[in-house]
Formats: sequence, C-alpha cells, structure tokens
Amino acid sequence: MNSPANSSAARPSAGPKSVAAFQRASALMPGGVNSPARAFGAVGGTPLFIERAEGPYLYDIDGNRYIDYIGSWGPMILGHAHPEVISAITEAAAKGTSYGAPTEAESRLAEQIIEAVPSIEKVRLVNSGTEATMSALRVARGATGRKKVIKFAGNYHGHVDSLLVAAGSAAATLGAPDSPGVTPGAAEDTLVLSYNDVPGLQNAFDQHGDDIAALILEPVVGNMGCVLPTMEFLNAARDLTSKHGSILIFDEVMTGFRVAYGGAQERFGVTPDMTTLGKIVGGGMPLGAYGGRAEIMNQVLPAGKVFQAGTLSGNPVAVAAGSATLRLLKENPPYEQLERLADRLADGLDRAATSAGMAHTVAKAGAMLTLFFNPEPVDCWDVADRCDREAFGRYFWGLINEGIYMPCSQFEALFFSQQHTEAMIDETIGAAEKVLKSL
Ligand SMILES: *Cc1c(COP(=O)(O)O)cnc(C)c1O
Repeated sequence: MNSPANSSAARPSAGPKSVAAFQRASALMPGGVNSPARAFGAVGGTPLFIERAEGPYLYDIDGNRYIDYIGSWGPMILGHAHPEVISAITEAAAKGTSYGAPTEAESRLAEQIIEAVPSIEKVRLVNSGTEATMSALRVARGATGRKKVIKFAGNYHGHVDSLLVAAGSAAATLGAPDSPGVTPGAAEDTLVLSYNDVPGLQNAFDQHGDDIAALILEPVVGNMGCVLPTMEFLNAARDLTSKHGSILIFDEVMTGFRVAYGGAQERFGVTPDMTTLGKIVGGGMPLGAYGGRAEIMNQVLPAGKVFQAGTLSGNPVAVAAGSATLRLLKENPPYEQLERLADRLADGLDRAATSAGMAHTVAKAGAMLTLFFNPEPVDCWDVADRCDREAFGRYFWGLINEGIYMPCSQFEALFFSQQHTEAMIDETIGAAEKVLKSL
C-alpha cells in the first residue's frame, strides 16, 4: 500500500494526495486539523485524509481501503453509513435541519436513553461530550452548593477548563495535560487522584468531604488506552460520594451503549447519580446528553435555576441519527458478538506480541481494547505513562501499510463495530504478527 515500515528513521508516509491535502489544511487550520488526535502527532507522519466510509472500512483519498479500528473514536458501533441510520438522517433533513422549537423526536430519544441507562430519570440533550460534562459539573455544583470536584489522572472528560488537569487522550499524547489558557482559578477546585487508588480516594474524602460537589470518572477508561476499574474502586466511589453528599458522575461518553447497552453502570451494576453521554448516542452526528436523578436534573433551567442552553441542542437531524442507532442496538443487540470478537482479537494480539518477544499487556471491555507496549498491567496513568511510545508509532504505521487503521496513539482504545467479522479480526491479527516481528 504505502512505503514499508521497517525503520524509525524513515517513517512510512501517507499517499501523495493526503500529503498535499495536509499541506493545504495546515495553512488553514491549527495543525491542519479540527481536533488534535487526528494529526498523528503521537506516531509521526502525515494523517490520512478520508474520502468515505462504509461498514467496517475507511477509504482514503489516495484510494486505499482500511479495516477501521477507530470508528470515529467511538460512535460508529453499527459500522459506517448504516442504511437505516442514513435514511433516518435524510428523512429528518428533508423536513428542515433546525427549528429552535421542541419536537416529539426529542422525547422519543429521551425515552430511549432513560430506558437504557439505569441512573437517568431525566435527561438534557446537548451537542457534544464536552458540553455534557461541563453542564453536569455545573449542575452538581449548583445542586450541592459546593465547589470542589474530584477527577482521575489520565481520564479525559472533554476540553472543559476545570477538567483539563491531568487529562488523558490527546492531552496526554501531546504531553500537555495542563493547557495554557486554563487559569489557576479554573483548576484550583479540581482534585486529581490516581485511578483505582482506593486509599487515595478515602483520604481525599476524609480531608475535603464536605466541600466535594462531584466526583467524575470514566467507568472504563478509554483515554489512556483501555483501563478497567476494580470493583473495589467503583464501590468506594459510590459509597464515599453517598456518605458525604457528593454527586457521583459517570462519564459514559465513550462507554455508553458500547460496553453494554446501558453502559458501564449496567455492566458493573454500580449506579451513579448523574451520567454524561456522547459518541454513540448521536449515531455519528454531533449530540451529547447528560442526565440523572430527577431531583438533580430539576435544578436545570427552566425547571430550576442552573443555566444551560443550546441553539442547536436536540437538533432534529442529530436526534434522528441517535434515535435510529439506539433503536437498532436495542432490537438487535450486538453485544455478545462484540464480546466474542474482542476475546478473539485480544488473544490474537497477545499471542502475536508474545511470539515477537514484545513486552506487552492487553486490556479490554467489550468492543474497546488496547495492546499496551508495557509489561505491567495498566491500572492508572503512572503505569500507562511508561509505555514504549516509539514502538507504538512503528506498530501503527506498519499496520497502516497492511490496510489496518488503528488509533494513532498508545493512549486511545481501539473500537470496532457490529460490521467487523471474524475474518477481519483474523486478518488484523495476521498483520499484527507480521508487523510486531519486524519491530
Ligand atoms: C470523547 C470523550 C469526551 C468528549 O466528547 P466530545 O464529543 O469530543 O466533546 C468526554 N468524555 C469522554 C470519556 C470521552 O471519551
């Protein structure tokens, strides 16, 4: 496909059309992209420019086809351009793309969300995951009258000022967890703890319990690679927040409708007070949501006094895509199939790395998975940070040459869809064997 990936000095590159497109884009947009993770900063080289996507495949403008393991970084669990989602979108668009007035379709999607997610009794639709977490924190602070928020190193909750402290994902990849432009004031009420550290959590509540408005966490982390919580940790988060009158927020923007239909809270049987959603809930359109117990959500304007609004919130086209996606997931749940494919992929990558003599571990939860170039089981950011990033970059480009499009960072989980088959998983494992041997 592209030039071979056999030395770190001469990294293979994207095709000539992508290279030209990136040059043009770089003069127009910061770093040539509209979201930093897309720029391939962590693996070097030029990003591939995409022409179209269908089912499990991405097609770049140089005419190459790839088995896609990013799924738009989470949303595309049904595969790309699912015919029923596309027809829901086109039918909605033909009736007008935005009204600024309520629609029945919003209530239908709200019912689907409330039925699916155990913690949500009332919900508000927004336009992105970032808006969902930002709004949930405001509501939690408004409802408790408290300031402080606990988050965990390596967890990413969107680009909310007060949460851009030891954030994962692109923030970690770029080595800038604390962004310039975030004032000390915006971050001073954020306590950053280590994921899965129960004594640390206990200690924080002992010291600050009465000031803590909310504890927010990714109930399976996707943004430092896939990192699983211990049950002890989730239970401690639930118990300590209840005991101290703080609000427990599960950020299920990535895990919602992915690790189970009802998200990680269904999978683990731990119910938070509030939940944030994005990605799958919008079916590939810009849509997020936050919700929780009715008494908390009734604090939001105009039912209550906490301000939160959006010109395009509940947008009919986005709502149609989300609603069709949830309906398809409910009618024909792919979760057992995804779990089987994840087992197959995890086993295969594990064997491939072992036979290549690479120090590694594999972590997964449903159709969310990471091969860490790290011999230690990754349970928190301090361990994740010790991965061999350089080897990962060569692995990434080696797989691109084999027609496999993995996330372009060690600190992003891979995702696959209902349209991925056993044969594609096996092809991926075969490619990984070849590439890992050549490292
Ligand atoms: C992607 C993500 C966000 C941010 O969502 P955007 O739609 O990109 O703003 C927040 N939290 C988690 C866990 C995410 O994975």
